[in-house]
Amino acid sequence: MKIWNGWGDETVRFDLPPKAHDLLRGLIGEGKGREDYPLGKFLARVPATPLPYHPLISTNPKDRLDHSHGQSLPDWVALRGGILRRFTDGVALPGTVEEVQALLDFAREHQIVVIPYGGGTSVVGHLEVPQEDRPVLSLSLERLNHLITLDTYSMLGTFEGGVRGPELEAQLRARGFTLGHFPQSFEYSSLGGWVVTRSSGQESMYYGRIEQLFAGGEVLTPKGAMSLYPFPASAAGPDLRQLVLGSEGRLGILTKVTVRISPLPERDDIYGIFFPSWDSGIEAVRDLSCSRMPISMIRLSNPKETETSLALAGHEGQISLLKRYLRLRRISMNEGCACLIGFIGSPYIVRGTKREAFSIISRHKGVTVGRAFGEVWKKYRFRAPYLRNSLWALGYAVDTLETSVTWDKVTSTMKAIEKTLGNALTQWNERVQVFSHLSHVYPTGSSIYTTFVFRLADTPEETLIRWKTLKGYGSRAILEAGGTISHQHGIGQDHKSYMQAEKGEVGMGILKQLCSHLDPDGRMNPQKLIP
Ligand SMILES: Cc1cc2nc3c(=O)[nH]c(=O)nc-3n(C[C@H](O)[C@H](O)[C@H](O)COP(=O)(O)OP(=O)(O)OC[C@H]3O[C@@H](n4cnc5c(N)ncnc54)[C@H](O)[C@@H]3O)c2cc1C
Repeated sequence: MKIWNGWGDETVRFDLPPKAHDLLRGLIGEGKGREDYPLGKFLARVPATPLPYHPLISTNPKDRLDHSHGQSLPDWVALRGGILRRFTDGVALPGTVEEVQALLDFAREHQIVVIPYGGGTSVVGHLEVPQEDRPVLSLSLERLNHLITLDTYSMLGTFEGGVRGPELEAQLRARGFTLGHFPQSFEYSSLGGWVVTRSSGQESMYYGRIEQLFAGGEVLTPKGAMSLYPFPASAAGPDLRQLVLGSEGRLGILTKVTVRISPLPERDDIYGIFFPSWDSGIEAVRDLSCSRMPISMIRLSNPKETETSLALAGHEGQISLLKRYLRLRRISMNEGCACLIGFIGSPYIVRGTKREAFSIISRHKGVTVGRAFGEVWKKYRFRAPYLRNSLWALGYAVDTLETSVTWDKVTSTMKAIEKTLGNALTQWNERVQVFSHLSHVYPTGSSIYTTFVFRLADTPEETLIRWKTLKGYGSRAILEAGGTISHQHGIGQDHKSYMQAEKGEVGMGILKQLCSHLDPDGRMNPQKLIP
């Protein structure tokens, strides 16, 4: 069963290894676990619904609570601290596109606000229920999870928009294909959610981000249905698919999605590499991404993240052997940077790519530690988010900031973000543990993904103020460095005030006009994306 106030399934645990706890304690102090606000009290607070009866709408308090938040840190603080203030007034569970249309008609007739709900994994406040007088309906796509057609000749698969990662991959894999989209939230996030938030999967270097995988589909807008044809390419004016990508539920419901599929690769091997310094690592990674070889992923951790990951790995015996080996190869643990690199395709292609890539890596003094290191990461790649649950129990909050910049700015931007986050809580005499990695690299630049850990304050309100301070400092550092406010998580509630700086007045005007053209009453996920 899904954890109601945290991440994932109740039966899965990822406890903080003692060594990692010691490290964290030494760096930012002992955390103090807080008692969680009880579920029963929340359910008692869910008010009577103002919605008229509809057979497809549940007004059960638990359903309403579960659909009134995502997975952002403010969402966690609100749930665990009992400060969630506004609940959705009902949860619609349509099973067909016709039922989605009927629900949209019902919402129009009764002036109801609609928040599309995919997997509920948003980390930037996409699902926050707005404080307003109109009733709010969460429209869950959960039952729209079927494969509609699979065209293996043209390599296209059409699914209902609510299909979640594991269901989608299982349906393709059973027929020898894959979408190749693996965000870390894969277990729960949905195809429609990926498209409208411009998601990026761990192997996007080979398969492409969701923008490249999204070929077309159907959106039900308050103005009517819009079909997007899966042309391989088109010069018929601006591409309307680009309007749907990143629309965050503001334009309508993405009910059907056609995606570009790939045959299951014969090999998908991940290797571990260590570089003696950040500078050598980043130069190697840049050269590898410019080579345009079939590499599925590159993930380069900075020294602080490398140290943290090794502590998190547990298995102290094996890690100390690894460290001894690296010292022999002149890689110090203060400066060394761990890197994962994935090779994909037929054995012949993988052999050739590996040879070429390892020659680039050794030119930059990288040392390979073999496939086992990478395979362990792959085996547990969707388990890392469970650590958030155990950190919280120990009194620590964890969140991330992410951006992308051109190569000339990667190191300076990462340092600026880390410095500002590291100093953000000095007024409370609190230290922050900050570390980063590059996980989506392009010939022109890279994403930067920064994690920050800080201690929970005495009250949820205070924890929220500290988070807002961190988020504000970090976001401003990103903009000052010339980065985008989001490389993969989207805008939602938490980034919308930075949109104007990035899109400019003309750009914002276009977005506003588009929303008011398709949704003149402002009933589709209002107050998100656009300030
Ligand atoms: C632990 C964790 C790890 C993550 N890792 C990654 C990662 O590696 N890469 C990445 O890109 N993101 C990641 N995310 C962020 C999140 O998973 C993505 O933004 C994801 O695309 C959201 O999909 P969802 O189905 O959960 O959407 P939801 O959270 O349900 O909704 C997000 C937004 O999309 C809208 N929406 C959802 N479905 C539809 C639809 N069918 N039609 C119209 N609007 C819709 C909602 O109204 C909302 O505005 C992570 C999140 C968590 C919690």
